[in-house]
Amino acid sequence: MLIAHRIALDPNNVQATYFARAAGTARFAYNWALAEWKRQYEAWKLDNRQTKPTQAALRRQLNAIKREQFPWMLEVTKNAPQMAIIQLGEAFKNFFAGRSRYPQFRKKGVHDRFTLTNDQFSIDGCRIRIPNLGWVRMRESLRFAGKILSATVSRVADRWFVSINVDTQDDSHLPLAENQGAAGVDLGVSALATLSTGEIIPGPKPHKALLARLQRLSRSLSRKQKGSANRKKAKAKLARLHARIAAIRSDALHKLTTDLTRRFHTIGIEDLNVRGMVRNRHLARSIADMGFFEFRRQLEYKTAMRGGQVVVADRFYPSSKTCSACGHRLEALPLAVREWTCPACGVVRDRDLNAATNLKNMAVSSTASACGEEGAGRTRKSAVKPASVKQEASSRFSQK
Ligand SMILES: [Zn+2]
Repeated sequence: MLIAHRIALDPNNVQATYFARAAGTARFAYNWALAEWKRQYEAWKLDNRQTKPTQAALRRQLNAIKREQFPWMLEVTKNAPQMAIIQLGEAFKNFFAGRSRYPQFRKKGVHDRFTLTNDQFSIDGCRIRIPNLGWVRMRESLRFAGKILSATVSRVADRWFVSINVDTQDDSHLPLAENQGAAGVDLGVSALATLSTGEIIPGPKPHKALLARLQRLSRSLSRKQKGSANRKKAKAKLARLHARIAAIRSDALHKLTTDLTRRFHTIGIEDLNVRGMVRNRHLARSIADMGFFEFRRQLEYKTAMRGGQVVVADRFYPSSKTCSACGHRLEALPLAVREWTCPACGVVRDRDLNAATNLKNMAVSSTASACGEEGAGRTRKSAVKPASVKQEASSRFSQK
């Protein structure tokens, strides 16, 4: 399994300057290659005898000219421009496969980053060694064992992080879940999540104060004159606050998924499609911001590491509208209704807990039927088949 472990770095001034320069070189190479790609592609369209652009050819082309035209590129690791162009190749691959939009030019200050291949750095406890730069302190050590593939150094606000890609090879290297049972998780409107056990996981706390500060800072930024030093300062302050809030949310989501996978073997969740996300825009900020796919991705890789599984409900599964005791299904249930009484069995249902319970039952029954599928499936099929055979036969006869 491929895992990226992101760790905060503590570079000294010289190292931070190097990072900024390497990220700048990566951005320049990426943008240069993208412009060349466009130019060469247009040329190919006019004259098919020309060659179509490829990332490998562009890398060779840059290598041939960089000593003369961009000598400053040699001051940082050769990985910075090379990996950026490889990433451009990936971006085009994703574009041609319909997975993403046409590659865009990278902008300074927006996700500044550069990538190193595993022969260009080494890790020893709480530090990483980068050629021409020496050891850089990491805030924690790498938590995953396995083959180290690459590392990406990136900037968020004024801080630097390294994201280390590891192939853990052995997938289930963590202890099994404590509780081999199942749980359903309903992603919350007000809370982060409600579990079928009745637990309510609140969203991260420090939100309100920070969000108020966020508003104040953005107002103060809008009052500053464009291009002024004060505006620059206010902008950096705002970026730091954004990064802090994002970190708090990300931390809450990781804690939730770690806690769930540590405790339960089987976890039932809803399939929130994009349209559902829009409809459910009151979803707790942590999940709404990070995206439901991030929640699901974390759950899936964390359960896989413990030999557990995630069961995702069908997109149209009415988890909120179905009574988890008798199975009665309501016609409609507005989002504002937090509690309802089942007209069939008379039990009062908490909306979120009821949904979580349904998701748990769904997860349990789908894993049970997966084990017993052979027998059940065959008998059902054999009961159906003769009828269809007969029908086919009779239609064939009538054609004669
Ligand atoms: Zn009922």
